[in-house]
Amino acid sequence: MSVCYVGLGANVEDPEAHITRALKAFQQSPQWTLLTVSSLYRSQPLGPQDQPDFYNAVAALTTSLPALDALDWLLNQEQQQGRVRLRHWGERCLDLDLLLYDDQVIEHERLSVPHRELCKRSFVVMPLLEIAPDLMLPDGRFLRDISPEFDGQLQRLSPPVIDI
Ligand code: ADP
Ligand code: MG
Repeated sequence: MSVCYVGLGANVEDPEAHITRALKAFQQSPQWTLLTVSSLYRSQPLGPQDQPDFYNAVAALTTSLPALDALDWLLNQEQQQGRVRLRHWGERCLDLDLLLYDDQVIEHERLSVPHRELCKRSFVVMPLLEIAPDLMLPDGRFLRDISPEFDGQLQRLSPPVIDI
C-alpha cells in the first residue's frame, strides 16, 4: 500500500457536489482507502478571470495502485463526472491531481510527482498542512517551511465536505 495525497478542485456545475462525489468514489473503490479530508476552501481562479471561484480540498489516502495507474484512475473519474477540457487553467467541474505518492519522485511524460505546482499554490498547501502539518517532501524539506505567502483571498469553509 502506498500513501498519497490528492488535490480536488472544481468551479462549475455545483462544485461542492462534484468534490463530494469524487470523495465517495474513493470510498467505494477497493483500490483506495480514504484516510482524511481537509476542509473545503474557496479560492480565486488562477488563469482566466472570467470564471467562478474554485472550491478546493485535499485528501490523504492509501492505494494499492502503482502511481501511473492511480493517475489513470483519477483522470477516468474526472471523465466519469463529465469533465470537459476547454482552456488551460479554465473552468472544470472536477480536477483531481496526484500531489504526492509515498516519498517518490516521478518524472514521466504523463506524471510529475510531487505535483509541479504543489508548493506554489496556497489552495493546495493550506489544506495539505491542515491534514498533515508535519508533512515532509521527498527532498527532505518540511512543507510548512516552504509554504507560499498566505493568499488573503483564500477562504476556509467548514465543516469538511464528507464524513469518514
Ligand atoms: P491541471 O491540473 O494542471 O490544470 P489537467 O488536469 O488538465 O491540468 O491535467 C493535464 C495533464 O497533467 C494530465 O493529463 C496528466 O497526464 C498530467 N499530470 C502530470 N502530473 C500530474 C499529477 N501529479 N497529477 C495529475 N495530472 C498530472
Ligand atoms: Mg489536473
